Amino acid sequence: MAYYSQFSKESLDALRLELEQQLKRYESENHDLNMARGKPCSDQLDLSNALLDIKIPLEKNPNDDFRNYGTLDGIPQTKQLFAELLEVDPSEIIIGGNSSLNMMYSTLAKVMLFGTSEEETPWCHIKDLKFLCPVPGYDRHFAICQKFGMEMINIDMTDEGPDMDQVEALVANDPTIKGIWCVPKFSNPTGITYSDRVVERLAKMKTAATDFRIIWDNAYVVHELYNDTEPLMNIMEACKAAGTQDRPYLFTSMSKVTFAGASVAAMAASKNNIDFILGIMGVQTIGSDKINQYRHSAFLKDLQGVKNHMKKHAQIIKPKFDLVLKILDEKLTDRQIATWSVPRGGYFINLDVMDGCAKEVVEMAESVGLKLTPAGATYPYGKDPFDRNIRIAPTFPPMDELEKAIEILCVCIELVSIHKYIERLDHQE
Ligand code: PMP
Repeated sequence: MAYYSQFSKESLDALRLELEQQLKRYESENHDLNMARGKPCSDQLDLSNALLDIKIPLEKNPNDDFRNYGTLDGIPQTKQLFAELLEVDPSEIIIGGNSSLNMMYSTLAKVMLFGTSEEETPWCHIKDLKFLCPVPGYDRHFAICQKFGMEMINIDMTDEGPDMDQVEALVANDPTIKGIWCVPKFSNPTGITYSDRVVERLAKMKTAATDFRIIWDNAYVVHELYNDTEPLMNIMEACKAAGTQDRPYLFTSMSKVTFAGASVAAMAASKNNIDFILGIMGVQTIGSDKINQYRHSAFLKDLQGVKNHMKKHAQIIKPKFDLVLKILDEKLTDRQIATWSVPRGGYFINLDVMDGCAKEVVEMAESVGLKLTPAGATYPYGKDPFDRNIRIAPTFPPMDELEKAIEILCVCIELVSIHKYIERLDHQE
């Protein structure tokens, strides 16, 4: 193997024909493969089946009856569990329903309608509202901003988190920049964990907006693939030390610990924020599902219980990550037509193909029965300015399907890259 850049036009043409025939064979095999979303596979879901058998204590004391209305902020044992997970005090926790994305949407909707506190202006009254979006990032975050009419500003991701020089320069002077999305651990899709320096700068930076908020979406807080943990600085403590304790809203859920569609989510924030949000939540709901909260606490017990459980997940999904990385390495490294992340946790492998090729690769894969996350989805407005980023979600397909899927993907990447090289040579002639 050699780099395509060293190939003559004739060799590229010969290889192109070979790969096109391979693609035709894939087409004739009628594949129906899907790597579009980061979903747990059924073996992972089976790890938590015992949850379904947990009986709820039937208390005589009406205040403790999990079947009844009440307890807006969640039951104490579940608050304790999430407090350990997010490294905050239980009084700084609100337990929600089954989805942290729902809590994030709902929190931002509250801020749009009512502001971040009694003193601040509701964001819906702010002209030219803006939000910072480290890219590539999570498409559903961007969809929330778009729905609320916030202008999204791309921030480059470095290998230790968002480019803080860009962030600090922007937030210092513009009071209409109201917040930033952060997936601080095993970020979706880059797999990056923020460095202490980045966390500290986020906590300390001067913001022109007095109601600036960090949306700290710690979705992958315990999602290690290896035995050692990748440490993340405590944002709440960093903000308290910097006097910006009202700045972060933290979120997480058990979606990829127990059942993705039926878990428990939580948010954490300063006392001021919690009181303000509970004041609005009390109008929105009488309380979340305490039966599910109780079951999760009884099943997982504490942080160590969660960590032990996550080791079982890693046993199932690490071989899938390893398989994808092995095939990418075998098929593409010598070609020098793509680069990819080697994550230590989370749910994704982040793949960059040659500039201007991602859309075509994804379309080509789909034409032979492999569905991927749409190209561009990892950027605000679905617009990858380089058209190069593809998110690989290896957890859901069984190993044999995954192997076929990545083989197909590699052929598509090779073919689209060869087309690019031939085009370049044609232009030079
Ligand atoms: N945040 C991130 C970064 C995610 O990747 C996901 C799931 N893909 C979610 C939130 C969704 O979490 P939940 O199931 O708790 O709504």
